[in-house]
Amino acid sequence: MKRYQLLIDGAWIDPAGGEWEANVNPANTDDVIGEFAVASAQDVNAAVEAAQRAFSVWRAMPMVKRGDILYKAANLLEARLEEVAQAMTREEGKTLPEARGETARGVAILRYFAGEASQPDGEVYPTALPNRMLFTRREPIGVVGLITPWNFPIAIPLWKIAPALVYGNTVILKPAELTPLTAWHIADVLTQAGLPKGVFNLITGTGHVAGSTLVAHNAVKTLSFTGSNAVGREIQRKLIERGGKVQLEMGGKNPVVVLDDAHLDIAVEMVTRGAMKSTGQKCTATSRVFVQKGIYKQFSEALVARVKSLRVGDGLDPNTYLGPVVSREQQQNVLEYLQIGQQQGVRLGTGGAELMSEAYAKGFYVQPTVFLDVDINNRLMQEEIFGPVVGLAPVDNLEDAIEAANSVPYGLSAAIISQDIGKIMRFIDGIQVGLVHVNDETAGAEPQVPFGGFKDSSSHSPEQGKAAREFYTQVKTVYLDYPT
Ligand code: NAD
Repeated sequence: MKRYQLLIDGAWIDPAGGEWEANVNPANTDDVIGEFAVASAQDVNAAVEAAQRAFSVWRAMPMVKRGDILYKAANLLEARLEEVAQAMTREEGKTLPEARGETARGVAILRYFAGEASQPDGEVYPTALPNRMLFTRREPIGVVGLITPWNFPIAIPLWKIAPALVYGNTVILKPAELTPLTAWHIADVLTQAGLPKGVFNLITGTGHVAGSTLVAHNAVKTLSFTGSNAVGREIQRKLIERGGKVQLEMGGKNPVVVLDDAHLDIAVEMVTRGAMKSTGQKCTATSRVFVQKGIYKQFSEALVARVKSLRVGDGLDPNTYLGPVVSREQQQNVLEYLQIGQQQGVRLGTGGAELMSEAYAKGFYVQPTVFLDVDINNRLMQEEIFGPVVGLAPVDNLEDAIEAANSVPYGLSAAIISQDIGKIMRFIDGIQVGLVHVNDETAGAEPQVPFGGFKDSSSHSPEQGKAAREFYTQVKTVYLDYPT
């Protein structure tokens, strides 16, 4: 069985505690992908110390040269795109086309931030005094801790790593327990691209040991986290207590509003994709649909028919639309919600149970599920399920739809399907989310624009684009007088 080590101070090393964890394929638990190092507190501290030492070397390297290394990493990742995509499908369960798409997005993220290396890193201002030049400069902060989830195991780490590095910080990545192989590929690619030792460190392991040691380390003053609300808020409290800076991207309960004038085929396709692609395990997945009464019956029948036709299976099978959920625990969580809905007598359009036949016996499969006529206050419509489950509710008009859509603590993403520009603009005005899609699914992001949520979905410090520069740098203001 191949063993995958930790990357600390430029060297691949065994974990100090001698602990390894097997990583299994959620589509087929007989398929053991490898054994991965479980970092101890000692390993995490060594990684932070290496990153501290490397900081002076890395920040001194001109930004354009740092960008060159990211370009190289992008090319190396592109060259092994198929291998990384296969690894992702095997350890996370998403389909191969989705895994290829995500890896290609990782390449695009690296290239975008490599390009940022030749953008201005400060501004010149007018001044009140003669013989003075007044300007700002963006500078790196130091050691940055990154903690990431399993559902986008290439894209999410890279959209944190790439800006952190290009702006001159050094990095420790603690990826999710369930997806260490994709993280290993990121570390390998960055190493081969020529990063100086200690600039990027990989510590695979658990949240409660590796993650919490990283969060507690006094030298880690900047930390970016994507994951659940419970863990995120705890990390925020700890960082703020010791004067740190923290960025959180967390859960969602993303609505789609379908108005009477919607193009029916577009509405059905966008809701199906948003709710069922990646087996519903996206922070931006569609989980609530508010449909205007005039089109409700037609839309719900068409959606149920479409979802019934979806093929569930191993993500490596080209005929699969949605793969397994990522783990036994996640499967149990999703099944619990399916039971709650049925115990409360919510009308089931399709699905509602585990997939039990022979073909599914070795994986963590759940039927794609549509609940109909759901009360907007039902737990199915309030809590993040993170599985292939969507609830529909009829609404009288756009105003009621916006009110229903805003009736959750989350505010990540939302979509409207309509051809009426006036109503679309009213929706954009009224909806309390960070990401709005029009005639599109709720998921999907491009690297050049901010990505982040409102309300409980985030810490209001978005990622990507110019927003990433705000987070990963600090501003120095320079008053330069030149007496004549
Ligand atoms: P999680 O919070 O359980 O884990 C996320 C990461 O935190 C993992 O690396 C984990 O090991 C680590 N962790 C766990 N406990 C920790 C602790 N005490 N201290 C430090 N680190 C700790 O989340 P998950 O199950 O991996 O991911 C699913 C969640 O992520 C969902 O809620 C989803 O909405 C959210 N998510 C949000 C976005 C976004 O951009 N908003 C994107 C993807 C996923």
